[in-house]
Amino acid sequence: MPSSSPDLLTLVTENVRAVRARIDGAARGAGRDPSDVRLLVATKTQPPEAVRAVVAAGVELVGENRVQELVAKAPAIADLVAAGDVAVHMIGNLQRNKVNQVLATASAVQSVDSLAIAEALSSRCVRDTLTIDVMVQVNVSGEASKSGVEPDDAPGLAREVAALPGVRLTGFMTIGARSRDDDEVRAGFARLREVRDVVVRAGDPRTRDARELSMGMSGDLELAVAEGATIVRVGTAVLGSRPAP
Ligand SMILES: *Cc1c(COP(=O)(O)O)cnc(C)c1O
Repeated sequence: MPSSSPDLLTLVTENVRAVRARIDGAARGAGRDPSDVRLLVATKTQPPEAVRAVVAAGVELVGENRVQELVAKAPAIADLVAAGDVAVHMIGNLQRNKVNQVLATASAVQSVDSLAIAEALSSRCVRDTLTIDVMVQVNVSGEASKSGVEPDDAPGLAREVAALPGVRLTGFMTIGARSRDDDEVRAGFARLREVRDVVVRAGDPRTRDARELSMGMSGDLELAVAEGATIVRVGTAVLGSRPAP
């Protein structure tokens, strides 16, 4: 596999450093340990060279939105995944008939928003004696365009998902409100934290470690970190505007 071009690597390395500085600053400002917040780079519509540059820049977590793209890029990054240099998370809508393809490359699915999809993951994992990490995606903004369960329904779905064999519930994911009002965006992130706290505090052994909060993107990561994000998902701030799909 050819290494990424020096220019791409230089640019990506600088951008990763800048994003990491934003995360660290927001964490310190909130009295949090910056090492408690991981950076996931969203590589949708980016070529495999960009993914390799992201990993060469020290990022250990990347996310793909579409199964087709995940499958297309998988061979180009298989060596990095096998070496443990990077883990791939599915962060987009997933259909039941695509579950097999996702399990071949991804170590986690952050976008579980129905029991049906969790059951499909579970039965494949049981068959292949695998375990997949999953998060329940919650729609905290109420925007119709966004996937995810309603916040009120999230604890119930989380309990049902966590009870399935072959899947391990690690936490919750959301996409923040598309709004210029920071208070509104931040309230959504706080809502996800409340959902997580309700579930973890219930004390069920299967859900009490579901502490991850995957929230915050290029435009709102500081607000998410202030509300407790443990994973922020950043695309454009690292890789620039996306090539047309
Ligand atoms: C694209 C994407 C991101 C990153 O968005 P940017 O605004 O480019 O940082 C994060 N999460 C999901 C689910 C995405 O689809």
